[in-house]
Amino acid sequence: MTAPSPPSRKAVSGERAPGTDPQAWLAHVTCVDVTEPLCRFSDCRQPLPPRRTAFCSDRHARAFERNHVWIHARRAARRRAGWACQRCGFKPSEARRDPAARRSLPRSAMRLEVNHIEPLAGAYRGVTCSNHLENLEVLCHACHLATTDAQRARRRGQDMVSNRA
Ligand SMILES: [Zn+2]
Ligand SMILES: [Zn+2]
Ligand SMILES: [Zn+2]
Repeated sequence: MTAPSPPSRKAVSGERAPGTDPQAWLAHVTCVDVTEPLCRFSDCRQPLPPRRTAFCSDRHARAFERNHVWIHARRAARRRAGWACQRCGFKPSEARRDPAARRSLPRSAMRLEVNHIEPLAGAYRGVTCSNHLENLEVLCHACHLATTDAQRARRRGQDMVSNRA
């Protein structure tokens, strides 16, 4: 196992396993220089041991995935947040155990969503440096809505400024 493919697990529909075609994701992954035989995990960049072609170890292959591959990064962000909204502290797992909350809250309120702090703005999200963990925040549905509204408003403001320039 030297390719940057995730540990064998069923492919999520619509998601391609990274590593099968490096060119497909290299355009979106800018934190590595693959021209040198060094570990692709940017915090490492050590020479590759014999028989390794991309990462020095499985541990660093997984660290790379957690910071680039959306399905892995999303889960890592939720785990880091302790499965609670980072803005208001809402914990769906607790709400699910509360019958009153279960009755009153819509299904969408029971999910934790993962927001890109520097917005993707429609860019490819499968494998990208936008999925670095420091660019992800875990939000409940309400906080996510408020945040994306604010992000959109800010973008509109920037567009107006750049149009004027
Ligand atoms: Zn490494
Ligand atoms: Zn919240
Ligand atoms: Zn990166």
